[in-house]
Amino acid sequence: MNHSHRARALLQSVFGYEDFRPGQAEIIGAVLDGGPVLAIMPTGSGKSMCYQLPALIEEKLTVVVSPLIALMRDQVGQMRALGVPAATLNSANDSAENDAAFRALREGALRLLFVSPERLMMDGLVATLRRAGPQRLAVDEAHCISQWGHDFRPEYRQIGAVAEALGGLQVVGFTATADRQTRADIVEKLFAAPPQTFLHSFDRPNIELNFAAKDQPRRQLSRFLERHRGASGVVYCGARERTEKLAAFFAEQGHEAVAYHAGLDQRARARAQDRFLQEDGVVAVATIAFGMGVNKPDVRFVAHADMPSSIESYYQEIGRAGRDGLPADTLTLYGLEDMAFWRQRIDAKDIAPEQRRVEHARFSALAMLCETPACRRQTLLAYFEEQSAPCGRCDICRGQVATYDGSVHAQKALSAVWRTGQRFGAHYLADVLTGAANDSIRRNGHDRIKTFGAGAGETKQVWTGVIRQLFAAGALASASNEHGGFALTEKGEAILLGREPIQLRAEQLAPRAERRPASGRRVAAATDAGLDEADAAVLVALKRRRLALARAEGVAAFMIFPDRTLIEIAEKRPASLSQLRAVHGVGERKLAAYGEAFLEALEEASR
Ligand code: ADP
Ligand code: ZN
Repeated sequence: MNHSHRARALLQSVFGYEDFRPGQAEIIGAVLDGGPVLAIMPTGSGKSMCYQLPALIEEKLTVVVSPLIALMRDQVGQMRALGVPAATLNSANDSAENDAAFRALREGALRLLFVSPERLMMDGLVATLRRAGPQRLAVDEAHCISQWGHDFRPEYRQIGAVAEALGGLQVVGFTATADRQTRADIVEKLFAAPPQTFLHSFDRPNIELNFAAKDQPRRQLSRFLERHRGASGVVYCGARERTEKLAAFFAEQGHEAVAYHAGLDQRARARAQDRFLQEDGVVAVATIAFGMGVNKPDVRFVAHADMPSSIESYYQEIGRAGRDGLPADTLTLYGLEDMAFWRQRIDAKDIAPEQRRVEHARFSALAMLCETPACRRQTLLAYFEEQSAPCGRCDICRGQVATYDGSVHAQKALSAVWRTGQRFGAHYLADVLTGAANDSIRRNGHDRIKTFGAGAGETKQVWTGVIRQLFAAGALASASNEHGGFALTEKGEAILLGREPIQLRAEQLAPRAERRPASGRRVAAATDAGLDEADAAVLVALKRRRLALARAEGVAAFMIFPDRTLIEIAEKRPASLSQLRAVHGVGERKLAAYGEAFLEALEEASR
């Protein structure tokens, strides 16, 4: 059998997947050819398969370097559940785990060995590996090698030397960071020769993109969560205490919400993460400390209570939703304070001017995405140098955000900035524009300038929105020495002088129509998957069985079967093991382990 037939056969028999996802087949082909390979694909697109399958096809060892211990353990668990011999070496292992891993390594029994970069360099592992004779080194999250990337890990710099020490063995790298600079850095630092590079589309069509200017964040978020009641999701917050307050607020509203941040003690964090992983329908209200090691395929929504730090972080964070390919929803709240906060953070960093410029540009890209009057997906993909048509499904495409020729509004706001000496913040400027004289405005004589009251026809909120949009569009910059103050940029001058028009968004958004009343909460989440009521009820029963099995085995629910598998079972109602075998995600190993249990649950539920 040639490789591509064998690859497909193993995809079906081991993983229970019918077909490759876009890009996988070509990348696996290149990996099997033996040369260096760099694959850049979005989160959730199935990168791991591109090194897992080759190891199974060749029946040889692949050493996988991965930066996150939690993730390695997860992957080992998943591989073992599929019957693939896998182990991990990392600082969290106890000595029994280490012994078992080394034994398996010596016996040549392993197909996948997951190691942290630190561990790879430590005491004699290279010598042990040389004896084991691995086929290749697969480097996950390869962008960690680049200091331009957002998670630079200095130890990654040694990986090339390790490959050299192992006789120049094949290196294959994977990352979801597409940034041109980072890419060039990976090619230069990880590989001895230029790798064959695959840049796969960054589109994640199953993820819906929604943004909203922060207005009443609690209400905005609770409306969003209501639409996804009973589903698993993450709400990212900019600050630790905010995670706890919001989690308590969501809990009051009847959601299973847990707070997670790096300031909690180890046990509390582990408990929150375990609940999120193992149970169905837990909402993690977390700082960005959460999610790095969480490889849960059935996260149905990600919300940002505060604006992320850059377009890369944004994409990585929302990318944690919908890895199973089923519909997932996102909502990002943003505000002027967020923008000023991140700008100041970048300015305060002790970094080279070039890197500061890069970081500002990455933040600007996100700010522009927040304020864009064009399709979100198109704008986002354009950042990754991909061209696409309007998606038809984001908030802009669905017409939830009205735009207008904002040149006159912009000119008034810019003129207020100019005439008050380019040093005041949004609230002050909005007061000037609406003609609300406060003490400091009077003291500064700004109640006598021409712009005072020039915007009295609009609310203060409209004016702070206009100023925020001008800031995001690069027409205003932070005034150098004034906290929260703005100055005109060249672009701002061009708009003020009428040389350049600008589209602005109307701020009073119509609330998005509620999609359905919250009936039984579990069924509500099930109908999210597009099932009718009867199938949805069956799905609830299947999930209950899955949770019982997961608890009994002490593993995450999705390790038993992903949502998509249960949904298909609910729809197709297989009557026998062989019919069940045809369902997505059901490989031989899992069929033997859980087949009977789910057929039984199905029968009980359909009675
Ligand atoms: P990435 O590393 O690119 O973020 P993963 O490798 O974790 O993504 O894959 C995401 C999910 O997609 C996993 O649950 C994986 O089992 C699943 N998957 C991978 N390849 C396929 C495929 N060909 N068909 C269906 N599901 C797949
Ligand atoms: Zn769109």
